[in-house]
Amino acid sequence: MTSLHSPLKPNAVIGIVGGGQLGRMSAVAAARLGFRTHILTPEANGPAAQVSHSVTCGKYDDPTALDAFARAVDVVTFEFENISADALDRLAKHCPVHPSGHILRISQDRLAEKTFFASAGIPLAPWHPVTDVKTLHEAAEKVGLPLILKTTRNGYDGKGQRRVHHIHDLEEAFNALAPHPLVAEGMVDFACEISVMVARGADGTVRCFDPALNRHWNGILDLTLAPAPIDPDIATQAIKLATTIAEKLELVGILGVEMFVDRTGNLLVNEMAPRPHNSGHWTMNACPQDQFDMHIRAVAGLPLPHAVRHSDAIMKNLVGPEDMALLPQIMATQGFIPHLYGKAEARVGRKMGHVNVLFPYGALPGNLGIQDALGPLATKTAAVEEETSAS
Ligand code: AMP
Repeated sequence: MTSLHSPLKPNAVIGIVGGGQLGRMSAVAAARLGFRTHILTPEANGPAAQVSHSVTCGKYDDPTALDAFARAVDVVTFEFENISADALDRLAKHCPVHPSGHILRISQDRLAEKTFFASAGIPLAPWHPVTDVKTLHEAAEKVGLPLILKTTRNGYDGKGQRRVHHIHDLEEAFNALAPHPLVAEGMVDFACEISVMVARGADGTVRCFDPALNRHWNGILDLTLAPAPIDPDIATQAIKLATTIAEKLELVGILGVEMFVDRTGNLLVNEMAPRPHNSGHWTMNACPQDQFDMHIRAVAGLPLPHAVRHSDAIMKNLVGPEDMALLPQIMATQGFIPHLYGKAEARVGRKMGHVNVLFPYGALPGNLGIQDALGPLATKTAAVEEETSAS
């Protein structure tokens, strides 16, 4: 077994649980650093497997596949969260696993996550656990209306949640959401949503990329602006919160922290993801070492460089067939840096790739300039802006 503090040697094998785009971009970063990657995935030819040295094709809960995978690698990480923490614990009997199953357990369950945040002094929107209609009414009293009711597990991209504006709609929302239990959150009247990617090395070094601003479309991340055009004091505060979270979790690896900036400039943490994050893709071209380099370095026990940003950036997600239909224009647009995930079929709502657009340091344009810079990709974003300014 490799000890935590001895870095992996060149050619060592990093095991990645999960075969999607985050695994793909992690594998490419690992290759840059001289490592091989081995993917555990049920899908033999997915985005990560296409660029990796080897693959164990099997289900994430299959003990035979898990053991075969663990025997083939020197260290394990994961690229998505809906694997069982028990499976990670099984892998940890063979080799180090970063981030740990303990962190995954917390991040997989909104109640555990909020309990952890509260114990770490992290500011949150008011919340209350909901197990039945009675506790739901208690929750409405505590957090107020409107509220957002969320499943505690398996929610992503806005799925597994309902907004409730009137007391008589509470029960219907409760019945519509499964699995229970749920958590109720007070609706934050936010000025914007930001995220911070924080990495922590095995030696305890913490590095944060600059906070970035995120805009969603149909519950899916559409655009990230880096750096977030927010007051520098708020940015400093956001970095402090992300650092506290990484330290309290004793994280090894990278973690994305999503936060709201409310209308009075207060930060409220929404959730975290202990893996590379879509809202950190801008780092791939705006930073000498991106979120994937940082993650692989942490997992491999290597020193973490400062999270330097040399340019401002817009990251635009390419989602579904409509965005992929624009591929010829995307490829022909000067200044667009496309990253495609190698997915065979462009289904509606599926993340197919992203485009980064760079600006000189400190020269991120305002909304109109962003529309201009996005050229053929601007339409949907304009609608997002209208929606944001109308709300
Ligand atoms: P989540 O699955 O928790 O990331 O929520 C998805 C999106 O719903 C967030 O990015 C926000 O735009 C919105 N949202 C979630 N929770 C709240 C809240 N408490 N107040 C206002 N908006 C929220």
